[in-house]
Amino acid sequence: MSHKVYNWQLNRKMDFIYPESRPDKQVAWVFDTNKCIACQTCTMACKNAWTSGKSQEYMWWNNVETKPWGFYPLGWDVRLLEKLGPQKWNGDKYEGKTIFEAADYGEKIQGFVPAEEDFGHPNLGEDEVSELVKQGQYIKIPHQPWMFYLPRICNHCTYPGCLGGCPRKAVYKRKDGTVLIDQERCRGYRECVRACPYKKSMFRNLTGKSEKCIACYPATEKDEQTQCVQNCIGKIRLFGFKNNWDKPDPKNPIDYLVHIKKIALPLYPQFGTEPNVYYIPPINVPESFNKQLFGPGASQAVELYKNAAKDSTLVGLLMLFGSTGKIVHSFSVEGDIETGHCIGYDSKGQEILRVPIKEPIIIREKHDTKRDVNRISVT
Ligand code: SF4
Ligand code: SF4
Repeated sequence: MSHKVYNWQLNRKMDFIYPESRPDKQVAWVFDTNKCIACQTCTMACKNAWTSGKSQEYMWWNNVETKPWGFYPLGWDVRLLEKLGPQKWNGDKYEGKTIFEAADYGEKIQGFVPAEEDFGHPNLGEDEVSELVKQGQYIKIPHQPWMFYLPRICNHCTYPGCLGGCPRKAVYKRKDGTVLIDQERCRGYRECVRACPYKKSMFRNLTGKSEKCIACYPATEKDEQTQCVQNCIGKIRLFGFKNNWDKPDPKNPIDYLVHIKKIALPLYPQFGTEPNVYYIPPINVPESFNKQLFGPGASQAVELYKNAAKDSTLVGLLMLFGSTGKIVHSFSVEGDIETGHCIGYDSKGQEILRVPIKEPIIIREKHDTKRDVNRISVT
């Protein structure tokens, strides 16, 4: 039996296995794709922390793939998109089918279990651009061939496919929205692997059970951001707790980016799981591709991002990304773009940090008189 639940990302009710039950607060991330350099430091930070054991070799809870040709596991998204059928949006309302509505006869969820070898090439397509530069073309700005880096973790979905698919009820969602697999209850049927549209629930041969990203809950319980956020070289990530879509708090950094500004968007909202990793879409990518990945709000988000430097609150908050290991529960901006600061606060309203909206530029003397040498880099 299925239940009608509201999915704000689709702007309509949809079918789900269980009744609607939203946590009071929801773990959530914002990733700015425009700043990711695919250094894979996040990938390694996660691996070292959680999946360095035997038979976890292929298990990358965090991966960064180059779109449009990168996939981990192979073809994870395009294979499901084909199974979903036409994905029509009418304005901001989704009129196609979700994975729960497009299930085959006798099934609850549309999905598939990737073959073992599909997990064997995590960097397939890395740094490959969309197409070759055509004969007679020359390199110009913007480049015709394009690509961008898509960092991916479990989305700790509001309507998790993994949870809906598990016949043992081994998958559960905590009060803070973290989705976990109870290793005692799991019997390794791989129904969560089949049902997760993002293929972020993974089977471990050694234990015969499935495992997935745990949102670094030992850290978040101590008000610290997750490993992938703390170690991100590009400072593209922000972790926090999101309020419900109908009660956004403009002082909450995640709410502000997702619900107030609508600059950070879910990945493949049409899957229907209401994922909670939100992406600032890449500005160098064709509109149609961005819309397929991030939904109908993608073009508006790109425009906002391009003009972010004129908006002191938005650009101030973007400067906060990667600036502290602590969870920022609220923020404020003081002053103007030239001289102002963005300030982050903890859960008690105490100031954690302040960052300048505009980073100071220091130009050093070309000649270092103390050491009597010329400097090559002066800025
Ligand atoms: S991304 Fe996949 S594994 Fe994570 S909560 Fe959603 S359905 Fe489950
Ligand atoms: S550490 Fe940050 S910049 Fe590097 S690949 Fe991961 S998300 Fe991208």
